[in-house]
Amino acid sequence: MATATGSAHAALHARHQAVLPDWLATYYARPIELTHGAGRYVWDAEGNRYLDFFGGILTTMTAHALPEVTAAVTEQAGRILHTSTLYLSRQAVELAERIAQLSGIPDARVFFTTSGTEANDTALLLATTYRRSNQVLALRNSYHGRSFTSIGITGNSAWSPTSLSPLQTLYVHGGVRTRGPYAHLTDAEFTDACVADLEDLLGQANGTVAALIAEPVQGVGGFTSGPDGLLAAFKRVLDRHGILWITDEVQTGWGRTGDHFWGWQAHDQAGPPDILTFAKGIGNGLSMGGVVARAEVMNCLGANSISTFGGSPITTAGALANLTYLLDHDLQGNARRVGGLLRARLDAVAARSGIVREVRGRGLMLGVELVEPGTDTPSPAAAALVLEAARERGLLIGKGGRDGNALRIAPPLSLTVTEAEEGAAALGEALAAAQAELG
Ligand code: PLP
Repeated sequence: MATATGSAHAALHARHQAVLPDWLATYYARPIELTHGAGRYVWDAEGNRYLDFFGGILTTMTAHALPEVTAAVTEQAGRILHTSTLYLSRQAVELAERIAQLSGIPDARVFFTTSGTEANDTALLLATTYRRSNQVLALRNSYHGRSFTSIGITGNSAWSPTSLSPLQTLYVHGGVRTRGPYAHLTDAEFTDACVADLEDLLGQANGTVAALIAEPVQGVGGFTSGPDGLLAAFKRVLDRHGILWITDEVQTGWGRTGDHFWGWQAHDQAGPPDILTFAKGIGNGLSMGGVVARAEVMNCLGANSISTFGGSPITTAGALANLTYLLDHDLQGNARRVGGLLRARLDAVAARSGIVREVRGRGLMLGVELVEPGTDTPSPAAAALVLEAARERGLLIGKGGRDGNALRIAPPLSLTVTEAEEGAAALGEALAAAQAELG
C-alpha cells in the first residue's frame, strides 16, 4: 500500500515531468526531493538522511546550513535585497579585494556574475575583445557552461548539443590521459605530445587566436587531468603568440584539490593565468560566480557591461561569510588531510571491486572510473547502478566522465574522518551490489 509521503512524492514527480525539461532530475529512477541539510548531511521529504558526497553539485563548499552564512544572508535580507552595480557595495568591495589577492593575478580586477556559465562567457568576451579574434582553444572533454557561447566551446559532446557556436574552437589534448591515443605515456611524454598537438593546432589556426580556456581538473569530464605542469608548458607556447590563458576554476577553486587553493597552481611554473573564472562553492549554494583578470584585460571593454544581479548585496554577504569561514578553518588543509585518507579508503575499495578501472584525483575531488565486470569497457550502466545502490545506503555521489562511467566524489570541504570512513564503506557496498547486478 502506498504511504502518504510516497504518493505525495509520486505526484510531485509527475508535476515535475509535466512542466520541467526532460533533462532535469535525471540522477535516480525515483528522484530525491531534498528539504534541508546540516553539516555534510541532507534530508529528503520522506525523512531519509544522506551523507552528501557531492556537496550539492560542488556548491556546498563549507557545510550545509553553515550558521555564519545563514546569519550573514538573514541580516542582509532584513536590510536590502538588491541595489545593482550602479551603486557602491561595501561587501562586494571587500569580497573582491580578498579574491583579487587570493587569485595570484597581478593588478587584478574582479567582476561578479550569477553563475559559472556567465563567468566563462565574460572571460570569452574579454579575451576575444582584447585580442580582436573569435578563435579560441579549449581542451577535449571539457565543460564550460550552458550558454550558447560556453556550450559552443565545450569539448564534451554529451554536454554540447549544438555545433553552431559563434566562436571558432580548436580542441587540444590535455584533459584525458587514461584512454585514447596518449594513454600509457609517462608524464613527460604526455606533456610533450600535448604541446606538440597545441603547436600543430596553432599552425592550422586562421590568424590570431584569443585564448586557451582549460579546467585544471575536468569536472563534468569525470575528474580527469593531465600531469602537473602541463598548463605551464602550454603557457610557454601561448606567451610566444600573445594568447591569453583562461583558467576555469568553477570546480577546482577554493582549496578543493587540497594541495592548492586554485587548480592552476599545480601549473604555476610559467606564471599566473591572465583570466580566472569561479562560481559554485564560493556562495555555498548562493548564485555567485565571477571573473578575475589583469586590469588591462578587464578594462578592455569599450562599452557598458553589467550583470544586474551579479555581486548583489545578498550573495556577496553570504560569500564573504563563507570564504571567511573557509580560510579561518583551513578547509584547504582539511581537504588535503581528509581527502588523502578518503583516497586511501577508495583505493582499498577499488582493489576489491571487479568494476573499478581507476581511482583518481586529489583533495576532496576524487573520481572513480567504472567498467563492465572483468573488462576494460566503460560502463555508464554501472555508474547508474552504483548511484542507486549508494542512495539506498544513505550516500549521495555524482557521476560524469567522457563515457558517463565516472563517479564524482566532492563532499563539503569540512568533511570529517568519521564521515569519510562512513562514505567509503557505503560506496564499497554499493560497488559490490552493482557488480552483483551486472553479473
Ligand atoms: N565551468 C565548469 C568547470 C563547470 O563545472 C560548470 C558547471 O558545472 C560551469 C562552468 C558552469 O557553471 P554554472 O552551472 O554555474 O553556470
